[in-house]
This record gives sequence, C-alpha cells and structure tokens, in this order.
Amino acid sequence: MASDSGGTPPGPPPGVRILVVGGGYVGMYTALRLQRKLKQRLRSGAAEIVVVTPDPYMTYQPFLPEAAAGSISPRHVVVPLRRVLPHCTILVGEARRIDHSKRTATVTTLATDEEGTGAVEITYDELVLAPGSVSRTLPVPGLAEHGVGFKTIEEAIGLRNHVIEQMDIASATRDPAIRDAALTFVFVGGGYAGVEALAELEDMARYTSRYYHNIKAEDLKWILVEATGRILPEVGESMGRYAVGELRGRNIDVRLDTRLESCEDRIAVLSDGSRFPTRTLVWTAGVKPAPLLAATDLPLNERGRLVCTARLTVDGAEHAWAAGDAAAVPDLTAAEPGRETAPNAQHAVRQAKVLADNLVAAIDGRPLKEYRHSYAGSVASLGLHKGVAHVYGRRLKGYPAWLMHRTYHLSRVPTFNRKARVLAEWTLAGLFKREIVSLGSLEHPRAEFEIAAGKRPRPDDGDCQ
Ligand SMILES: Cc1cc2nc3c(=O)[nH]c(=O)nc-3n(C[C@H](O)[C@H](O)[C@H](O)COP(=O)(O)OP(=O)(O)OC[C@H]3O[C@@H](n4cnc5c(N)ncnc54)[C@H](O)[C@@H]3O)c2cc1C
Repeated sequence: MASDSGGTPPGPPPGVRILVVGGGYVGMYTALRLQRKLKQRLRSGAAEIVVVTPDPYMTYQPFLPEAAAGSISPRHVVVPLRRVLPHCTILVGEARRIDHSKRTATVTTLATDEEGTGAVEITYDELVLAPGSVSRTLPVPGLAEHGVGFKTIEEAIGLRNHVIEQMDIASATRDPAIRDAALTFVFVGGGYAGVEALAELEDMARYTSRYYHNIKAEDLKWILVEATGRILPEVGESMGRYAVGELRGRNIDVRLDTRLESCEDRIAVLSDGSRFPTRTLVWTAGVKPAPLLAATDLPLNERGRLVCTARLTVDGAEHAWAAGDAAAVPDLTAAEPGRETAPNAQHAVRQAKVLADNLVAAIDGRPLKEYRHSYAGSVASLGLHKGVAHVYGRRLKGYPAWLMHRTYHLSRVPTFNRKARVLAEWTLAGLFKREIVSLGSLEHPRAEFEIAAGKRPRPDDGDCQ
C-alpha cells in the first residue's frame, strides 16, 4: 500500500506497520532514516510508517533562545514533518495510552471532542516510543499560576513578547512598584535552557531599552536562581565559573545554592530570604519524562524513564524501541557502571540512527548493534557575540565560543532549506538593526473584533499600567 501523508487515521496494517510516537529529535530522525532504508518496502506496501505528533513540525530546541531574542524567526526553528517525511503518514494528535501487549495505541486528534469521542485506536507491529520530556516542576506555591517554561516555540516567542510588553508597561506607569515588578525577570534553573534563554533575552532587552525615553539598561533586574553551586554543568566546571562571571559582569544577579521557595501574589521568595516582586518567572529547573509513559504497560525506572537496553529496545518487551529524553539507555562509555545517557540532543540524534538501523535489522533477522557514544561536550550562547564551549577537551569563551555555537548548530539544524534561511537571517541581522516589537496581540487575534462587537469591554486607562 502506498503511504499516505494526508493525516487520515490509518486502517488495518498492510505489511509491517511501524508506529513512531513523537515528532521531535528521535521521532523525526528515526522516521527519516527508516523512510530511506525501507524505501522500496514503503512503495510496495510491505511496510508503513505512522508518526503521531501533537504538532506537524519538529522543534530544533537549541535555537529557542535565539528565537526569543529575535535573531531567528520562529518558523525557521521548526521543521515541517510532512515535507521531510513524504513517505510516512503524519497523524497530528497525542498518544494517550499504549497497550503494547495488544499492540494498540489510543490517539486523540484534533477531531476528538471533550468526551473523548473521535479518539482513534492504531494497531502496529513495531513501536518507537519517543515522546521526550516535559518541564519538571516542584510544589512551589504560586509556580503553577505564574511560572512559564521554555521548551516550545510558543513559550519562547510568548516570552519575547512578554518581556517587551513589560518594558512598555514600565514606561507607561507612574507607579514605582508596578514599574519595578515589570522590570524584574526571574529565571529558575542554571542548565543551558535557562542560562541561554536569560542571556539572550537580557541582551535583547538591553538593546531595546535604547528606544525608551525613560528606561535605561541598568533599570532592568535579571535574576538567575540555581539550587546547586554551579551553572551549565554541560560545559564543565571552569567554563561554568566563567559563565557566572560573564553574567555577573552584565549586572545579572546570579544566585547559586539558592532555591525558589514561593511565588504567590507574583512575589518571588528565595531560600536566602530575598523577595522580588515580578511579573516574569521562567522555570527551567530540569525535565521529567513525558506523562504518556505512565499510561503504557512498558517498564519504567524510578525516575519514570523507559528501561531500555543498549540496543535501544525496551527491556523485556518485544517489538518496542525507545531513545532520547524518554529512555533510560545504559551509557556503555561511562567509567562507573549503571549510568544512563543524559537527556540531550547529542544522544537523541545518535540514538535515533542506531535505533532505525536496529529496527530494520530486526525485521530482516540480522543482529543488532549497541549504542555507544561518549559525550563530546557542549556549546552555549550567552547572548550576541558571547558564549562558552567545552568540546572534545577544548575550552573556548567569548566570541570564538559564540561562533562555534552558531557554526555547530547551523551544521546540525535539519534540512538544507532551514540552514540557508537561518544563515540568511543571521547575515541580515548583522547588517540591519534588531527587531524590537512585541507582537503579543497575535496570541489573541479575536480580541479587537470582540471589543468592536461589544462582546468584551475595552480596557480602560486604569488597566493599562
Ligand atoms: C531551550 C532548550 C535548549 C536546548 N539546547 C540543547 C543543546 O544546546 N544541546 C543539546 O544537546 N540539547 C539541548 N537541548 C535538549 C534537547 O533539545 C533534547 O534533549 C532533545 O530534544 C530530546 O529529544 P527527544 O526526541 O527525546 O524529545 P523532543 O525533541 O522533545 O521530542 C518529543 C516529541 O514528542 C512529542 N510528544 C510528547 N508527548 C506525546 C504524546 N503523548 N503523543 C505524541 N507525541 C508526543 C512532543 O510534542 C515532541 O514533539 C535543549 C532543550 C531546550 C528545551
């Protein structure tokens, strides 16, 4: 049966049906490789690949901080799955339950109503489980009400709009308390997501403040709260220390060995006793496996990751495969036994390759390979022309590290089309001034019409502080 990319829920499997759950790093790269390796079988109907994904695109997460800073447009941070996977069936929806003993997944799609009517059941022969991770929150009072994560393109662009909007609020108000809260930005979590997001946004806001008659860069208060004694563990201790110095040199208040205790009533209370009224609380203090995993009959470890073998099969389950943030894969290169590979893109991409090769080998009755990759190090951007890197034992900082960060990610972002567009944007950004507008109203496109139709009151002047 010829494969269909129209998104219609598939019927009974024609040949071998491979169900890929998740369209992120692992999902997309696995499907890409399977599509290439099974080309003939996909054409003849002897195989079918179905990708279930909540969004019809893969997000290149390392570019989210640059998207938030406005250095890359949002649509260039994502890869359209229908375009790169023309021989797969892309089903936009969310797997809610997997009964692997019956080889069945229950998927809600855009056509599913609140009662769950319209959810589809998909049967499969081989399962690739790659739903990644979600923000790991803690029961901090006020966090659920006032915090925002930094894992999706919507969050990154929403945060950019929000930061600029806070500057507009601060510029417009005569109330010093409102101004102070608007210009205070608290980030919790010193991994690369939090540090890069804070550093890029601070850089953007610093530049933007030039265009405000009553806001100076020094008026903005940026606070990074980190529970351990270091930030950016991925780049090693000395480069982590350098990053702290670099951020503090920009007047960013980096608080190590400190936790967020609460943020009720929009006041961030830290474990060192300090209190910051703020309208911006970004939570990037780690990730946990996607909730879907708890709704399967597959084995999970104590941290909720799927227990996997080094061949990227789910331990003890036949015809089930997993990799990436959701999978506890033994790290065969670690000095101490029992270590798992870390949840990062470096492992996700390489595991996807081995997973796809092993899956095809299993179908063909050939032996499987083990995943083995020693971590090559990491690069992180600390804003325009600033960065830090520790790769293959080499340490770089400042401009060379930033250049390496850009070169590395340009080489990694999928498809030639995306690479060309990102490069063009960076080049143009070097020639012209930075964009400084907030398009926050895009998030409420019907608001103006509802006001005009009398369905919603026009905000009076008192509300616009
Ligand atoms: C801001 C940021 C910056 C980062 N920078 C770096 C970096 O510089 N270097 C690095 O190595 N790593 C980086 N990472 C980490 C890296 O992006 C992740 O480790 C990687 O994306 C993991 O790949 P994955 O396929 O397991 O998960 P993801 O890429 O997150 O993909 C999971 C997919 O599954 C989908 N999904 C979830 N639940 C379901 C469901 N029930 N049904 C169907 N689909 C589902 C999700 O929507 C998503 O599309 C960064 C992460 C962030 C957030």
